[in-house]
Amino acid sequence: MAETKSICCYCGTGCGVIVTSDGARVTGVRGDPDHPANRGRLCTKGANLHLTVRSDATRVLQPELRPSRGLERRACGWDEALDTAAERFAAVIREHGPDSVAFYVSGQLLTEDYHVFNKLARGLVGTNNIDSNSRLCMSSAVVGYKTTLGSDAPPACYDDIEQAKCIFIAGANPAFAHPILFRRVEAAKKSNPDLKLIVVDPRRTDTAASADLHLAILPGTDVALFNGMLHVLLWDGLADFEFIRAHTEGFDALKATVREYTPKMVAQICGVTEAQVVQAAQWFGQSGATLSLYCQGLNQSTHGTDNNAALINLHLATGQIGKPGAGPLSLTGQPNAMGGREVGAMATLLPGHRDPANVEHRAEVAQLWDVPSLPERPGKTAVEMFEAVRSGEIKAIWIACTNPAQSLPHQQLVREALEQAELVVVQEAFAGTETAAYADILLPAATWPEKEGCMTNSERCIGRVSAAVPPPGKARADWEIAADFARRLGACLGKGDLARRLFYYEHAQQIFDEHRAATRGRDLDMTGLSYAVLESQGPQQWPYPQGAQAGTARLYGDGVFPSSSRRARFADTRYRPAAEQADARYPFTLLTGRLRDQWHGMSRTGLAARLWNHVEAPLLEMHPLDLERRGLKAGALVRIRSRRGELVLPVQACADLRPGQVFLPMHWGSRFLSGQGVNALTTNACDPQSHQPELKHAAVQVEAV
Ligand code: SF4
Repeated sequence: MAETKSICCYCGTGCGVIVTSDGARVTGVRGDPDHPANRGRLCTKGANLHLTVRSDATRVLQPELRPSRGLERRACGWDEALDTAAERFAAVIREHGPDSVAFYVSGQLLTEDYHVFNKLARGLVGTNNIDSNSRLCMSSAVVGYKTTLGSDAPPACYDDIEQAKCIFIAGANPAFAHPILFRRVEAAKKSNPDLKLIVVDPRRTDTAASADLHLAILPGTDVALFNGMLHVLLWDGLADFEFIRAHTEGFDALKATVREYTPKMVAQICGVTEAQVVQAAQWFGQSGATLSLYCQGLNQSTHGTDNNAALINLHLATGQIGKPGAGPLSLTGQPNAMGGREVGAMATLLPGHRDPANVEHRAEVAQLWDVPSLPERPGKTAVEMFEAVRSGEIKAIWIACTNPAQSLPHQQLVREALEQAELVVVQEAFAGTETAAYADILLPAATWPEKEGCMTNSERCIGRVSAAVPPPGKARADWEIAADFARRLGACLGKGDLARRLFYYEHAQQIFDEHRAATRGRDLDMTGLSYAVLESQGPQQWPYPQGAQAGTARLYGDGVFPSSSRRARFADTRYRPAAEQADARYPFTLLTGRLRDQWHGMSRTGLAARLWNHVEAPLLEMHPLDLERRGLKAGALVRIRSRRGELVLPVQACADLRPGQVFLPMHWGSRFLSGQGVNALTTNACDPQSHQPELKHAAVQVEAV
């Protein structure tokens, strides 16, 4: 029996796991006691990972293609599938230019996979049309960090949980979504009863139920709350004016703005009491060590960037950053969203935290990759990308390791796009996803724990993932598929020599080495890391420059920030309402969130029978008063309708919401729910800065069927 060290492939906590196998089959998993994120613990999802490793009909086992729409796909070999894909992509590029194709990738890819796709899109094809499902997850956190701190780098670390005097959780339910981190919060509270736990969430989640103070704000009012807390901090003398003077800029404009955010005004906007606003501010400011944990409740909003920046403003105003137990720490929803940010495999990013709009940055990457230049035209972000497919501007799309026909908002438009496209290539491990149904070419991909590479968790900690078993059937590692396709595409485009030179890789380590070289001299410099270092010393936090002996737990302890002025910048944030408000026609606010034992679109967790024990079927949660007012009984079928689509499902009573709100888990796609799944209802309205859609809330009506 062999044991292989790996990392859980679900949430951004990034727990270490030890996989036991007989060389061909996974026989079990247990928590890695040496991994700093989880110290041997696993949540229900992680502990049942071995039940999701399959080689049967639940997997895509061989390439398939169809000559034209309307025909069934047939099995084929890798050569035929990739040659066909390359010829058809090349034909589209020749006729319509490089921006007529696009690549939509995933925060579940390993860093090495991400890197190869990025090089394929930008270095070979010459388009910035590469984006990731991470756009749905954390792009507001990226822009929030860059706007205020100068770079996309979470400054705090998990060990700050045990050192914090106050933990401020906003727009997150880690008891369900990041359970091992929440176990650490619970343990910290138990060992230090004076630690204050504040939770900001419209619902009384399991996380909120543990709080000393739960602020059940109205959806989308986070900026008003944070500005109101800053108002109290400033006028109650709880701000650190010496830190503000020495290390920040932009304070005066924000101070003038928050003057009007009195506790009274904020209480009215947010639907909480003045005393709660004041209490939250006092605990935040008086603790001396407040750690903020936040996730999709802040990010998935049409003002997600402002939500992030307004919270970071509180840390800057109190000087609670770069110190033990203090700082903002965004939680990533996916296991390697951070790796994709490092690699820059998104339309708005370039490798090594560079910017595609910056001519010098483009030149630096072109030099690193040894290509003449990088494309200048802005690429399409996730929602824009599928809108462009629908309009015919993008004609061929390559989708890897993600299921946009379940996970993107406003599903009707997404599905129209996939029907309208000239060519859809889907690279996927799991058969039967909603998106696989649209594939003209379906390619079998290896998945956890069948491939190797690296992942970075929410605290900037890079870990090695090793293959415990070989992939089933003809499945291959994602980077291998992308590189093989790139070489064939290059030949079709008359760039065969360039493609062979760019995609020379024989193993994943060569790719990691190329990636880390792109970080030299940057804020995330990881040139001191290698597979050998990660294997001998375990996971390490960047920056880890050449010559370093250990990773960096916290950033900005010296008060120097990676901006042009070397100062942090207060963002002048102002409250704006959510994109959709409940009204007479759509009187309920739909909230979305996670279940404890399912993950994302359930392609993997849906395979383990025991993960269905917690919640067995889709249900709409509604306040008992609303059920009574509408004459509905728990268990009755209801029709829930937004301006975009509708679903039919049973309703159940839930007093953890306010009257006027309903809740639906994000996991249910059309495999489990009538119509197009939960995202038939959600809006594709996006934050103008981060381009992240407002998946968290929408206005709906509910009626008996
Ligand atoms: Fe996996 Fe997240 Fe659970 Fe850890 S907390 S075992 S990373 S799902």
